[in-house]
Amino acid sequence: MAWANGLIKTIIDRSNHFISCDVAVVIADKYPKARHHYLVLPTEDIPSIYSLNRTHLPLLEELHLLALNITEVRGLQWDNFKVVFHAKPSMQRVHLHVISKDFISDCLKTKKHWNSFNTDLFVPYETIYNQLSNDGCIQRWPKEVVDDLLATPLKCNQCSFEANNMPTLKQHLLEHSE
Ligand code: AMP
Ligand code: ZN
Repeated sequence: MAWANGLIKTIIDRSNHFISCDVAVVIADKYPKARHHYLVLPTEDIPSIYSLNRTHLPLLEELHLLALNITEVRGLQWDNFKVVFHAKPSMQRVHLHVISKDFISDCLKTKKHWNSFNTDLFVPYETIYNQLSNDGCIQRWPKEVVDDLLATPLKCNQCSFEANNMPTLKQHLLEHSE
């Protein structure tokens, strides 16, 4: 099975489901980019946000409900989480990221990682929901826009600090969590 099908492979095994409902499941992100990082996926084979249409709005609401549920079940504070889709996903099957804002993780290694999680490439659930509701589809982003965002200077997500490199940024993030 191709690497991009890894999420589909993971959800086939029910023991990987933290919680589920009739139409969706929650799994752990295998390479968490923060202290808490979950993925919510539909059981229906929807490749990405770019395959969604208005008929999927109730499904999106179910994904969001599971996102809320997993933080409740784990006793975590909802306000400390981002609930977002990637504008440039790497893995097949639409998935909603539920990720804590600390971004403290050994798996967070590269500038590309940081910028894909901390620029406009990381699109809030509400933005996708509203776009789908208004336009009936999600428009793909031009490659130049994606490349520019991935090349954005490293900025802290909690203050105005700018880092020259990832080790400096990671050290700085630790200071926020002390
Ligand atoms: P995206 O860039 O939005 O497609 O995010 C894909 C996410 O899936 C990343 O955060 C990866 O760490 C995560 N991931 C990759 N492979 C697996 C897997 N087999 N099981 C669970 N999560 C995975
Ligand atoms: Zn900071």
